Amino acid sequence: MPPALLIAGYVLLTLAPLALAWAQGKPPRPFMDELSSGLALAAFAILLMEFLLSGRFRSISERIGMDVTMRFHQLLARVAAAFILLHPFLYSTPIGLARPDDATHRGHLGLTGAAAYSGVLGWLLLLLLVITAMRRTQIGHSYERWRIGHAIGAVLIAGLVAHHAFAAGRYSGEGPLLWFWILLLALAAMTMLVVYLIRPLLRLRRPYEVVAVTPVAANTWQLEIRPRHGAALDYEAGQFVWLRVGRNPWSPDEHPFSLASAPADRTKLSFVIKAFGDFTSKLGGIAPGTKAYVDGPYGHLTLARRQCEGVALLAGGVGIAPLLGILRQMQASGDDRPVVLVYGNRSRTQIVLADELESLSASLNLKVVHVLSEPDDAWTGRRGMLDEALLRELFGFDGAARWCYLLCGPQGMMESCERSLLGLGVPARQIVSERFYYD
Ligand SMILES: Cc1cc2nc3c(=O)[nH]c(=O)nc-3n(C[C@H](O)[C@H](O)[C@H](O)COP(=O)(O)OP(=O)(O)OC[C@H]3O[C@@H](n4cnc5c(N)ncnc54)[C@H](O)[C@@H]3O)c2cc1C
Repeated sequence: MPPALLIAGYVLLTLAPLALAWAQGKPPRPFMDELSSGLALAAFAILLMEFLLSGRFRSISERIGMDVTMRFHQLLARVAAAFILLHPFLYSTPIGLARPDDATHRGHLGLTGAAAYSGVLGWLLLLLLVITAMRRTQIGHSYERWRIGHAIGAVLIAGLVAHHAFAAGRYSGEGPLLWFWILLLALAAMTMLVVYLIRPLLRLRRPYEVVAVTPVAANTWQLEIRPRHGAALDYEAGQFVWLRVGRNPWSPDEHPFSLASAPADRTKLSFVIKAFGDFTSKLGGIAPGTKAYVDGPYGHLTLARRQCEGVALLAGGVGIAPLLGILRQMQASGDDRPVVLVYGNRSRTQIVLADELESLSASLNLKVVHVLSEPDDAWTGRRGMLDEALLRELFGFDGAARWCYLLCGPQGMMESCERSLLGLGVPARQIVSERFYYD
């Protein structure tokens, strides 16, 4: 889906409850009361759409990238949380439990006991969910445990907020607005069904098994898997999948990894993986024959459907993985466009598959530029970082704006390379990045 259409659809769905509430034509209330209700209505719509944003739907993330989609998910959750946190405090009419002497609710906003409980609980849980997501790495739980808690928390909050909105809300419990909420709740429920039932069932029918795990650099392995029957999945070079190794298709222990193989070879998938945490550190011990499942492909770090007179690949560390897949595919398809790979590492031992890169540069129109930030004394290549001076030297020529620039590496490297390329006059649409961490 084109990004402009996505944004327009998103804004429309967020504002729709306000329009539907206004269309009910109820008698006016104090401004602050209407503001409070309006913020809560918009926040509820945002919360329900969070399920869709985090549901890994390719129609949402294909053009803007999974990292940008996840960033939206995080930022919009904070907006919704801010609106809902303010909601009870903005009313100028006092809030309390329903009083028999004020059936019209003009003197105070009377809530039933159940509506008060669902409101307070939903409010507290949302605060907890957003704080634990923002502070996830400091809390110390494993990523998998956090994700299960996050999903359960999100479902509880949606249920509590829905109950509160229907039982206490002035607008939500009737007419087209009620149907609008039923539709968004159904979409959120459908997302959970797709993510936790339908996709795992589909994966069960396409098992893979580990063929080999080979060390390819310091603390880095190449993992190869092959389908137990039929061909490997269809993907574009540079995309990624969520991978489960030695786990069932429902296991929360899954990890996103870029495909380092060429899609032209449908017999296997390969990955270049660096030790980072509990799963990746044990990779070297995985036995051939271990069952694996993949969910994908995802990601937009590809040359497909892009106009590129030449290709610049900027890699930092294990960010080489998807770019290796692109080079392997260029070789398999006989692509003779000029390619420059700028590959930054700290030391020589971290360079992944240096020999293969060398042989690729013999068969492709490829120039490989290694840059080391902490080289040994014997290193005769370039020293330092992928900085503006280096990028100007390599891509400061006429026509460089018509090349495609594919970036993958540490956050700081990508941000500084993106800035430098824009400064060199490369249009933003020619620069494509994939981030390995969504935090
Ligand atoms: C799109 C993408 C492509 C990637 N490609 C590669 C690659 O080709 N090679 C490589 O070495 N690394 C890659 N990574 C990083 C890799 O996924 C993490 O290093 C790995 O998941 C860490 O798992 P762990 O159990 O070893 O460590 P943990 O301690 O469990 O996780 C460390 C961090 O990894 C991230 N992470 C873990 N599990 C998930 C998950 N299920 N979904 C999202 N993020 C998760 C979280 O930020 C977490 O804090 C990629 C990441 C992304 C987002």
